[in-house]
Amino acid sequence: MPVFLLTNDDGYFSEGIKALREELKKLGRVITIAPDRNLSGVGHSLTFTAPLRMRRVDDDFWTVIGGTPADCIHLGYYVLLDGKAPDLVCSGINEGPNLGEDITYSGTVSGAMEGRILGIPSVAFSVFGENPDFKEVARVCLDVVKMVLEKGMPEDTYLNVNVPALPRDEIRGFMITRQGRRAYVEKVLKLSDPARKPLYWITAEKFGWSLEEGTDYWAVYHGYVSITPLQLDLTNYRALEILKKTWQA
Ligand SMILES: [Mg+2]
Repeated sequence: MPVFLLTNDDGYFSEGIKALREELKKLGRVITIAPDRNLSGVGHSLTFTAPLRMRRVDDDFWTVIGGTPADCIHLGYYVLLDGKAPDLVCSGINEGPNLGEDITYSGTVSGAMEGRILGIPSVAFSVFGENPDFKEVARVCLDVVKMVLEKGMPEDTYLNVNVPALPRDEIRGFMITRQGRRAYVEKVLKLSDPARKPLYWITAEKFGWSLEEGTDYWAVYHGYVSITPLQLDLTNYRALEILKKTWQA
């Protein structure tokens, strides 16, 4: 029976994590450990300048007070599992997509990234589209999990999965994609506090991604489940060769 370690960045109370937890339970043991608040956009932050406290929510279900998704996977592995690797780390289902460069901010993707750093196959799940039926989306996520358990994944890889918010039978299939590019119209809202001192709120006038064939966005836009293989090594190998030839010569 496979063991899953599950986290998210929307908080342990979110609909997405509960739906995925219920689906994963059909396949094996699910140990859930998630932040006690919405930490969307927290990235791969790890808390090492302060201690952390864990609180039990239910059987095999924990929350970390002030803990990030990376903290949760770290504590899940070293404390709850006592250093015994689970079969798969899952993160999500995030409310909203994780496409293009957005994944660099994503706590959801970073939960899977932490799993990969610990040497465990890991998958991040997000939903693209308005008013998702999380139970339906979780069923599609389970199809991906089954595929991962059956076929495995290449070493040093973790997956970024985005599922369109469609009924399962309307999804056109799976597509292996590359990371796309964000095309936001950025905006910083200017507000003021009760003492009329300025406040700023980072948002966007318009959220969007470049519609290039083969990308994560292209897939979800056309009704496919996007599966993007990611790696920890951020080296730009093309630039490495160029710099070696031009700077080192
Ligand atoms: Mg989130």
